[in-house]
Amino acid sequence: MIRTGEEYKNGIRDGREVWMDGERVKDVTRHPALKPIIDIKARMYDMAHEERYSSALTYVDGNERHSIFYRPPQTKQDWADKIAAVDHVMKDIGGVVTRVGDETIGEMWSLADGRDVLAEIDPRFAANIDRHIQAVVENDVFHVSANTDPKGDRSLPPQQQDPDLMVHVTRETDAGIIIRGAKYETAAAYADQAYLKPTVGAWSTEALSDYAVGCIVKMGAPGVKHICRAGFANRSSEKDYPLANRFDEVEALVVFDDVLIPWEDVFFYRHTRAAQFVRSTLHRYSAFPYVLRLLYTADMMIGAAMWNAKQTGLDKLQSVREKLADLVCYREGINAHLTASIAMAEKSPGGLLMPQQSMLYAGRVFGCSQLPAMMHIARELCGGQICITPNASSFEAKGSGEWLNKFYSLNDQWQAEDRRKLLAFARDLLNSDYAGHRLTFVQFAQAPHFNHLAAVYNSFDFSGPLDFVKKSAGLSDRINGGKA
Ligand SMILES: Cc1cc2nc3c(=O)[nH]c(=O)nc-3n(C[C@H](O)[C@H](O)[C@H](O)COP(=O)(O)OP(=O)(O)OC[C@H]3O[C@@H](n4cnc5c(N)ncnc54)[C@H](O)[C@@H]3O)c2cc1C
Repeated sequence: MIRTGEEYKNGIRDGREVWMDGERVKDVTRHPALKPIIDIKARMYDMAHEERYSSALTYVDGNERHSIFYRPPQTKQDWADKIAAVDHVMKDIGGVVTRVGDETIGEMWSLADGRDVLAEIDPRFAANIDRHIQAVVENDVFHVSANTDPKGDRSLPPQQQDPDLMVHVTRETDAGIIIRGAKYETAAAYADQAYLKPTVGAWSTEALSDYAVGCIVKMGAPGVKHICRAGFANRSSEKDYPLANRFDEVEALVVFDDVLIPWEDVFFYRHTRAAQFVRSTLHRYSAFPYVLRLLYTADMMIGAAMWNAKQTGLDKLQSVREKLADLVCYREGINAHLTASIAMAEKSPGGLLMPQQSMLYAGRVFGCSQLPAMMHIARELCGGQICITPNASSFEAKGSGEWLNKFYSLNDQWQAEDRRKLLAFARDLLNSDYAGHRLTFVQFAQAPHFNHLAAVYNSFDFSGPLDFVKKSAGLSDRINGGKA
């Protein structure tokens, strides 16, 4: 079943407890900070029903039509279909959004790959994983990710500080487990459910721990409280901040105040090894759409910088072309890592097709770590006018408008209105508080840099370089523990 935008909106009008700027939000779908991004998610649902998109965004299984984003990948074509679907969405909405569902469902596929580890304690839970993966497909659920606790003092085990600083189970009932704590989650306030799991901390040496819990949490369940950060949308005119007003994906500190998780929604519980395993494979699939988004961010930077260079004729200069080429190398570097990771895709332990891991993770390090440098180049190419250009209202007002229109018009081709729009776009992409937020998002939302590097270290096969150097340098077998 594929849902419509209206069905999605009705689903999140479930009386959920959402707070922003000190006020309880009555209807998330109408709140000025949340409405634009909810409308985009609704648009994605509606696109799947439109004739021009439906064959790219959906597939038929039996008598049912489902979203291509949620189809567990089994072939390279499945990945090609997902890439094409993302392309349709990004081009239709005219911007970049990350937490729209396809990016977090991969964490569930990684979980399914670990079914054997998870089944060790209670085989019932393994069946829950398969059922939930199927339920997301069948019910077209908007699913997000809950990993990061406030954590507190990392040098202390959770039991020696406020125990709620990390999500844990407080008791069991016949109906399920009761959890307390909090997580940071992008899009939680307007999603249907989250896959909650621990960021393994100081308790990881324990054999059994109340903190080692993984489950599905319904975002409107009693006791779930979303305390959102302030939004960027509708703070200012869309003419001046065209990206912030349309694409802000609001994060929340989601508090779990004794929330009942029914047994059928539990994936693991009091299983420290399972928690560690889940963390080590979490982004096996989901890093792919995360990095793919950066391709579109790169395209926006290339487009903004190139139009800016073109309008003034600076694109004729070799040194300007070199800077544009640096941006292209960034874009194509991301493209190459993604393409190669699918071309060399590998069977996962659970029988799915996962992107070749070391290339995918190396691509994530490349894409995320180089973004600040690329924003710097794009900003340089756009020039200082992105921070000194007055807002649209000054261009429209009598008294200031005539002067601005005179000085911002270059020639017949580039009149003031197009230049103002381009500069406003570039400002919001590279310079605004929204731009700064997006940069932090890219660098942290799928774990911080040290974690990205750990994923590369753990997925790369070092035996190739080690053997190569051993032979080339004529090293003895002694170094492998053999006879000299
Ligand atoms: C915009 C945004 C959106 C987010 N969305 C989500 C979401 O949807 N779901 C979710 O679960 N989480 C989300 N997060 C949280 C994100 O996953 C965390 O910020 C991230 O995991 C880092 O955790 P932390 O902020 O507690 O940083 P800390 O753990 O406090 O680390 C801070 C810094 O300390 C250094 N550091 C810490 N530990 C080590 C170490 N072992 N080795 C080397 N250096 C270290 C690193 O420089 C690190 O960046 C989001 C974060 C942001 C900023």
